[in-house]
Amino acid sequence: TPRVFSGIKPSGGLTLGNYLGAIKRFVDMQGGEFETIYCVMDMHAITVWQDPEDLRHATREVAAGYLAAGIDPDSSILTNQCRVPAHAELAWLFNCVARVGWMNRMTQFKDKAGKNAENVSLGLYAYPSLMAADILVYHATHVPVGEDQKQHVELTRDIANKFNHDYKVDFFPECKPVIEGPAMRVMNLRDGTKKMSKSGESDMERVNMTDDADTIAKKFKKAKTDPEPLPEEMEGLADRPEARNLVNIYAGLANMTGEEVLAVYGGQGWGAFKPALAELAVEKLAPISTEMARLMNDPAEIDRILAKGAEKAKEIADPILDKTFEIMGFVR
Ligand code: ATP
Ligand code: MG
Repeated sequence: TPRVFSGIKPSGGLTLGNYLGAIKRFVDMQGGEFETIYCVMDMHAITVWQDPEDLRHATREVAAGYLAAGIDPDSSILTNQCRVPAHAELAWLFNCVARVGWMNRMTQFKDKAGKNAENVSLGLYAYPSLMAADILVYHATHVPVGEDQKQHVELTRDIANKFNHDYKVDFFPECKPVIEGPAMRVMNLRDGTKKMSKSGESDMERVNMTDDADTIAKKFKKAKTDPEPLPEEMEGLADRPEARNLVNIYAGLANMTGEEVLAVYGGQGWGAFKPALAELAVEKLAPISTEMARLMNDPAEIDRILAKGAEKAKEIADPILDKTFEIMGFVR
């Protein structure tokens, strides 16, 4: 069976972008033609500073988000990255396969490092190599991600190809990013040219999965827009990034296309659309955040689920890592 791998970093609270671009789609891929492996990417989170107490909390909260949204630990493998050492071991091997020039092309590194590139962690630079290991240590072929991760999944393919070529084997499979739906890139509510991120500066630029109804309504009300009413067709949103973003969020939450949303709301103003959007977001997120809060009351139970998932993950990852060492000539 083809395998799906994906994950989310516990680098802050989960956002609507993480929900629509990742978690909701992880749930959709579960229980079908794929074996699904979903992970809390704690080793990736520390590529930027994480307070230890915050990391502990956020790790359990991302796990709670998965579970509350419908990831079933009996049907998917659910764990956190640090519990499966094969990820980090394979990442080192891949550090010696990947080229510095490849890392230099990564736009996420440039965005995250900003003007301070000399003073960020070496881990932030090597991040794509660990991500390649996360995917390939399971021989996963399908990687559901938001649009921002496309480049990293393509680099994963390059690493697999170079490994196979250098060692004259056909060992690591081709993997591809699965990027679908209207909300593959949810934008910042205050600046429609920037991605919504959990690590963004201002809380007003994102909707958190744990926000209450009043906060969600306030954030959409204050979201940047233009004075024009909604157009009848998606083409009318080409030069209106903020407006397009809100339509896409509605579409993602309602399982509609942007066109279908405009068939209902075309011609209407923000005074009608924003409250409808807030109401829809609350309707979809409130049951999840209520369940997250319930799960967070019992962190030991979350830890047990992650530990059990790690045992299943190791059964797949360890033999693949062993074989990789053998191909490379390690004496173990
Ligand atoms: P950080 O700011 O710490 O990078 P993040 O919000 O970007 O956090 P990640 O853990 O980096 O979240 O990404 C987890 C998954 O969520 C990835 O598949 C990523 O593509 C997806 N994702 C993140 N933000 C968005 C977004 N705004 N729209 C759609 N998908 C998103
Ligand atoms: Mg990110």
